[in-house]
Amino acid sequence: MAKVMAVNAGSSSLKFKLYEMPEEKVLCSGNAERIGHEDAIFGIKWNGQEEKNILPILDHAAAVELLVKALIDKGIVKSMDEIVACGHRIVQGGKYFSKSELFNKDTEDKIESLIPLAPLHNKAHLVGFRAFKKILPDSVNVAVFDTAFHQTMSEEDYLFPIPYEYSEKYDCRRYGAHGTSHKYLSQVGLKYCEGIAHPKMIICHIGSGASLTAVKDGKCVATSMGLTPLGGIMMGTRTGDLDPSVMNYLCKCTGKSVEEMYQIFNKKSGFLGVSEVSNDSRDVLKACEEGNKKAIIANRLFVRRIADFIGQYFVRLGGADLIIFSAGIGENSTITREQICDAIAPALGIEIDKKLNASIRGKEALLSTPNSKIKVAVIPTDEEVMIARDTYAYYLKK
Ligand code: ADP
Repeated sequence: MAKVMAVNAGSSSLKFKLYEMPEEKVLCSGNAERIGHEDAIFGIKWNGQEEKNILPILDHAAAVELLVKALIDKGIVKSMDEIVACGHRIVQGGKYFSKSELFNKDTEDKIESLIPLAPLHNKAHLVGFRAFKKILPDSVNVAVFDTAFHQTMSEEDYLFPIPYEYSEKYDCRRYGAHGTSHKYLSQVGLKYCEGIAHPKMIICHIGSGASLTAVKDGKCVATSMGLTPLGGIMMGTRTGDLDPSVMNYLCKCTGKSVEEMYQIFNKKSGFLGVSEVSNDSRDVLKACEEGNKKAIIANRLFVRRIADFIGQYFVRLGGADLIIFSAGIGENSTITREQICDAIAPALGIEIDKKLNASIRGKEALLSTPNSKIKVAVIPTDEEVMIARDTYAYYLKK
């Protein structure tokens, strides 16, 4: 038995989940938010209990110290050295990492060198890692990359049609994201593909950030996000794929800089930009019910983009055995799942049990009927358990 921490460090937050491995029992989970502020928030859930405090947390090291103190005070661990390993989520692994890797100087240097490809994320992950290293110097640290699962894509799937020189010199290509989630879902999805020699899956991870991945034989062959998580389908606040000339044209029209417009594409577009209501699909769907025209078109755009990618991946895979819905919207929004299935049903011959679909929120279920040409399932994702598994595997090898 070993206690393993799964860590997701953002620029001003630090999410954590402590596991007893190999049982995968969750001992506690929580989040430090607004790090760097006098009125930061530290929340922790353990053993059916919950606590939230507002207090100063001036940096990530202070957040880790607070976490360790909470673990001991609440009797979750007896001493710090019980935490034998920490797995850190890393958004961008670039071309270097096709699997999780032990944190050493080389790993750290490579993550650092990738900061230009994920400026906010990678920097924050390193701060998080260094904070844990300081407080838990003897624990094994493992980097688990969001991009690793997508490294199996072939060149024609990851290259952009830009001058080759740029692809080579600047490593400008598709890396994708949500890889840890897609990998987890592709593994759980296997239970619906029994007896199929080479399972083909289309995985829809649709939350605030959203991406689709085509998986064959457990390997990613195509994914919708691009160089950064801005690409692919429309999202809560992000545009997804656009004609690249939209950037140039709108900068000219508005007098805004490329950087300003880039921020708008990232933070003020998607559901929020089109509906002018909210980035949260729940609010948008409510506004649709009230007849708000912009909300209705925002929702139609969203569904259309997803249906188009499913069609594209159906062709890319040469068919499909399973379509998986996951993440905030995929797991909970029964109406969105129904609308997507309605959009693809005529072409792909899928059929779901609509009554069953309407009753499924946040839990696993097979939605398709026996008549459906492709199985359709809801599978809640679990990125943290994947981080804990990879980290524990490295700990055993130590
Ligand atoms: P991320 O991890 O990318 O921040 P999540 O996977 O947590 O996002 O998804 C968050 C989104 O899920 C919310 O913005 C909301 O739009 C959507 N969501 C959550 N619950 C529901 C629900 N019951 N109905 C519709 N949408 C929901």
